[in-house]
Parts: sequence; structure tokens; C-alpha cells
Amino acid sequence: MSPPADRIVMKFGGTSMAGIERIRNVARQVKREWAKGNQVAVVVSAMSGETDRLVNFCREASPLYDPKEYDVVVASGEQVTSGLLAIALQAIGVPARSWLGWQLPIRTSDAHASARIGTIDTEALNASLAKGEVAVIPGFQGQTEGGRVTTLGRGGSDTSAVAVAAAMKADRCDIYTDVDGVYTTDPRIVPKARKIEKITYEEMLELASVGAKVLQTRSVGLAMKEKVRVQVLSSFGDPDAEPTPGTFVVSEDEIGENNVEQQHITGIAYDRNEAKITLTAVPDRPGAVATIFNPLAEASINVDMIVQNVAHGTGSTDVTFTVPGAELARSLDVLEKAQQEIGYAKLIPDTQVCKISVVGVGMRSHAGVAATMFQALAERGINILAITTSEIKVSVLIHEDYTELAVRVLHTAYGLDAEDAA
Ligand code: ASP
Ligand code: MG
Repeated sequence: MSPPADRIVMKFGGTSMAGIERIRNVARQVKREWAKGNQVAVVVSAMSGETDRLVNFCREASPLYDPKEYDVVVASGEQVTSGLLAIALQAIGVPARSWLGWQLPIRTSDAHASARIGTIDTEALNASLAKGEVAVIPGFQGQTEGGRVTTLGRGGSDTSAVAVAAAMKADRCDIYTDVDGVYTTDPRIVPKARKIEKITYEEMLELASVGAKVLQTRSVGLAMKEKVRVQVLSSFGDPDAEPTPGTFVVSEDEIGENNVEQQHITGIAYDRNEAKITLTAVPDRPGAVATIFNPLAEASINVDMIVQNVAHGTGSTDVTFTVPGAELARSLDVLEKAQQEIGYAKLIPDTQVCKISVVGVGMRSHAGVAATMFQALAERGINILAITTSEIKVSVLIHEDYTELAVRVLHTAYGLDAEDAA
């Protein structure tokens, strides 16, 4: 039985491309899909560790390197693997050629080192695919209107793959990686975590942005916007056998209302990369909070969770919020400089925190999701330092020492443990 031919994008990450043996293995997987009559474009990452190595060369050459030249250097990792994969494919009888970012071209903004994809010219690509050729496209890179090489930001080849899939109107975009799908939570913490069969774009977006590192967040946003069906699956199975289905990231329609509503919570993520800042005795008057957050915004520092405590009749209040851990030093600097204007007493940083988030579109139609969370944490004596919510997410900030315990307890509380599975 041969399934109807599809147009597909297969994306392979750095671990799958690390060395010739693995690239040969990837070539066999590509051949398997191509041999079914599918039109196949492959998007590849650099060999794992290679981009870090290239970034370090730039830093060594000059700490104040020109981002345009940085892009020239770091884009080379994917140039190497795309050429090597084309060679490996040809060696097993699959017609293949590489298409570098500037050759298609993949047009991007000129924000070097974090460029955004604009349009992708598919004329040459389509002609090549129609001839039965496999197109091998380096991820992570593109070119500006003016012809300079750009890169998309670290982890960007997921976004390249989704963008190529959207441009060529692919039936699906298969992201082959070193895990076999998206799990209800980190299996290293909860051995009973389950592989999720289907997850909505929105849920994946929330999970990706709160620390589940399977897909680059931007790639999920793009897939949602362009309605690209994404599958995350393992690249380490038998390359010649039909792969075990991974996790499909799809629209809510495809999952079906009933299924969406069955499950209150789809996944739990944690993120240790936030830092908490408390300003004590901030004057309790209109505009006070603006004097804190305006200078942070001007410094492009993203504030995430915010708690303002009630005033105790003293005319002042404590304000607590979180920033990315990597921005803590800069945040403190900005706030110290603004002390006069804000008028706080003390500035107290705390890096020993972790944000735990429970995510699920089922939350929209089920009450009590947050209450379950607070109750489960309270029973274990875990103190909540801050809370934020969105329509499909509840996040709490806790002491980092309780990360594993909190994730485990919540996984059980929401009935996500494998043995509870229907
Ligand atoms: N090679 C790039 C990086 O390491 C892009 C990617 O692999 O997604 O960030
Ligand atoms: Mg990646």
C-alpha cells in the first residue's frame, strides 16, 4: 500500500547532523520519504557544537564584532552540512542539490544575528522538486534585500523549516530531533511523563516559551500563523523503517473540540532562567509603578511576572517582579540609577527562583485549574512568590529548590501520569 505523494519538509537538528555517519543515516531517512514519491525539501542545522565554536571565533577576533560579518561566519556551519547531506544523498542514488539562503533566495530583514524571514522565492525550488530532486536547504540563514548574509538567531533552523514549508505549501513539516516528541513535562524529572500525540499551536507556543526546549518559539508562532502542520519526531529510529509517529502540532480544529476539552492541562513546563527583584517601600501613589517599569522598558528588558503588595497604611508598598536571569545585572543598574525618581527603600534581587507553568486550552472551559495548582503546592508546603495567568496558562514563581517536587506533584494532580492515561 503506498500512501499518496505529499510535499514535505524534513528538518534535522545539530545532533542528527553531527558527523558523517549520522549524516549518512539522515540521508537514508530522506531516501525513505523520497522513495514513496514525495517531494522532499530538507532543512538542516550545523553539526552540534559548531555554531558555538563559530560564535567564539567572532568573540575572539573582537568583542565588538560587526554583526554583518558575524552572520557570514556563523552561517557557514549550515553551509557545510547542507553540502555534505547532498553528497550523502547522491551517494545512495538520490538526486539532490543544496540551495543556500542567497540562492533561493530566503529574504530576511536586515537585523543581523536575529533577522526575520520575509519572503522565500520558490520558483527554482519548485522546479527542482518537480524533477524529483531533493532540495537541501541550510537552516538559520537568509539574505537581506541588499544581498548581505543574515542569520535568524540561535535555534533558528526550526523557523527556517517552517518558513520553507509555508512557502512551498507543504503538507507537513517533520522536525526530526533527539527526542521522540513533546512530553507532558520533562521526562528527566517525571519518568511517568507521556508523549503528547497532538498539541495545539497555542499550547506549544506557551510551552516553548516557558522552557520546553523542543522547538524554537518563533517557529511555533510562524507555524500557527501560516497553518503549517508540524510533527516533532525522533531521528534515531531505524532509518529505513516507517518512523514512530511523534507529536503533531496542529490547529485546534484538527484536534477536535471534544478532545481539547477532555484534558484540562496538556503540559507542565519550568524555567529556571528568571530572576526576581523586589523594591521595598515604593510610594503608594498614581504613577509610581510607571517610574519602575518605564526605564526597564527603555532598556528593552522584558518584565514577566508582577506583584504589587497592598499598602499597610504606611503610604508605601512593596513591588516584586521577574526579569530574564541574563538581564538581572542590567536591570539592577537601571533601577539603581532611577532610585531617586522611584523613591524605593531597598532593592532585593533573588536568582534562586523557578517559574512553573501549567498549560492547556482545556482551561478555557474548565474552572478550578488554578485552584488545583495552588492546593497541590500548598499540600507540599511550597510557597508561591508570584502568579501570572493567561487564557490557557497559569504560572507560579517558587523557590528553585522545589522545582522537581512541584513539577512532579502537579503532573499527578492533573492526572497526567502515564498509568492514569486512558
Ligand atoms: N545552528 C544554529 C544554532 O545552533 C541554528 C540551529 O541549529 O537551529 O543556533
Ligand atoms: Mg534546535
